[in-house]
Amino acid sequence: MSCKLSRETISNVIKFHGHSCPGLRIGIRVSELVRRELGDLPDARLVCITETDMCGVDAVQYLTGCTYGKGNLIHKDYGKTAFTFFDRETGRGFRCLFRSGARGDMAMEMSSLQQKITSGEANETEQARCKELRRQMEEGLMESDLDQLFEVMLPNGVVPRSARILASLVCEACGEDTMESRTRRFAGQTLCQPCFNKVEQKV
Ligand SMILES: [Zn+2]
Ligand SMILES: [Zn+2]
Repeated sequence: MSCKLSRETISNVIKFHGHSCPGLRIGIRVSELVRRELGDLPDARLVCITETDMCGVDAVQYLTGCTYGKGNLIHKDYGKTAFTFFDRETGRGFRCLFRSGARGDMAMEMSSLQQKITSGEANETEQARCKELRRQMEEGLMESDLDQLFEVMLPNGVVPRSARILASLVCEACGEDTMESRTRRFAGQTLCQPCFNKVEQKV
């Protein structure tokens, strides 16, 4: 089934992200999948583990309420277009992986055109062609069935624990308060990560 979100909602997502792009459309569809798999949960119950930091994460934040600042969006830098969602209350969850073929046949042509544009070698016709392909791809992503776009599977692992407020320690090099769990020890000193990196590089 094609995307069921209202035009207004979609235009708000685009505004939040800053532009319309295929990646954002993937995130929009992910948020629909969440509703299909877990129901309409209040965002306090929902937690997302994203394996990518691409455009789509903004749609996930805007539409599911899993946000970086609330701590219910966890980024694992795996470089995969995959998202895991859990309902904290029931422990139920799923992982979805974007199917590599789901961008359609135009993906290859588009990426070679994009390379030309980035390197400044594309002529006007090629630029227009790329724009049109992009529009078609976005349209395709919005009209496809969710199961055509994503492989849905059981999550790897269990619900991550809630964000905790931890004590701060003072970095002995720069004097700035640093969350205890992010500090390092070096030559008997407690240091923040950047100060630790500095001294460690000198050794
Ligand atoms: Zn984007
Ligand atoms: Zn420091």
